[in-house]
Amino acid sequence: MIVVMKPQASEQSIHAITKYIKDNGLQVHLSQGEEVTIIGIVGDKSRLSTENLIIFKDVDRIVPVTESYKLASRTFHPESTTVKVGNTAIGPGSLTIMAGPCAVETQEQLLCIAKAVKASGATILRGGAYKPRTSPYSFQGLEEEGLRYMQEAKALTGLSTICEVVSLEAIEGAVKYVDMIQIGARNMQNFILLKEAGQSGLPVLLKRGLCATVDEWLNAAEYIIAEGNPNVVLCERGIRTFETATRNTLDLSAVPVLRSKTHLPVIVDPSHSTGSYKYVAPMAKAAVACDADGLMIEVHNDPAHALSDGPQSLTFEKFEKLTGELRPFCQLVKRSF
Ligand code: PEP
Ligand code: MN
Repeated sequence: MIVVMKPQASEQSIHAITKYIKDNGLQVHLSQGEEVTIIGIVGDKSRLSTENLIIFKDVDRIVPVTESYKLASRTFHPESTTVKVGNTAIGPGSLTIMAGPCAVETQEQLLCIAKAVKASGATILRGGAYKPRTSPYSFQGLEEEGLRYMQEAKALTGLSTICEVVSLEAIEGAVKYVDMIQIGARNMQNFILLKEAGQSGLPVLLKRGLCATVDEWLNAAEYIIAEGNPNVVLCERGIRTFETATRNTLDLSAVPVLRSKTHLPVIVDPSHSTGSYKYVAPMAKAAVACDADGLMIEVHNDPAHALSDGPQSLTFEKFEKLTGELRPFCQLVKRSF
């Protein structure tokens, strides 16, 4: 449940009720907006009586939170969150583009792609060093060597960096070399990994599971935040449906649905959702039009010879054309880019 304080509630009143809640063995999540303060309560609420809470000074009302996630919920935290990633930030007022190869292949490849995506407006370089491939015989990634190339690319271009992690070992490596970690679709409900990501101290991009509902996804985010890491960004990357014309079905309605349910930033990945470079541009524009906070797009110097996901990767020319075409969409939704 949440306790909504009256406008201009005093610090003493907020302190008194907060102390009462904590003394009863529950946790408090304070959200101090410009107008009102909201006190979110996490824990076994049978330990508290609403009748006692409502009579505290300056309390306006008590609202039950029916969702099982609390810290991720907009009821708990009405203002949209901005997540800082290296020297950039994801959230209201701007469009963040993460771009780069599916997999880090070589030092030269990564640097060449980093320079090109930066020139076209990307601020975060993506590149997989640990690749959770459908087939065990497919390229599995360069692992720590790949992370080192990411760090070099950052030093040479100033781009912030993101890498997927698939294990605790990968998280320990990522902390040394990159600015943000990604939990991929296949690991969205790997609860041990989520907890470890929550303890890593790095911002986390949480991709939607292949068959996950929005509520399951938000509960996965809750696992990370509950470890003390509030810096979570959600990424819609398509879900499994009966449709086979695209690799997955991009659920763009998830963007406004999430907007109403959570304060966390939401980005869209038109590459993994469609599986074909041909559909990336229209879905990227649609994502900006429905007010996503950012995009994750796969770009490759030579898609035909890419070690993974070549068919959905944009060439430098196509990526440049797309980012140019996104600018008027950004103006419409009042986002700088
Ligand atoms: C990726 O971004 O490299 C990736 C594997 O994506 P997903 O987890 O969405 O399939
Ligand atoms: Mn990929």
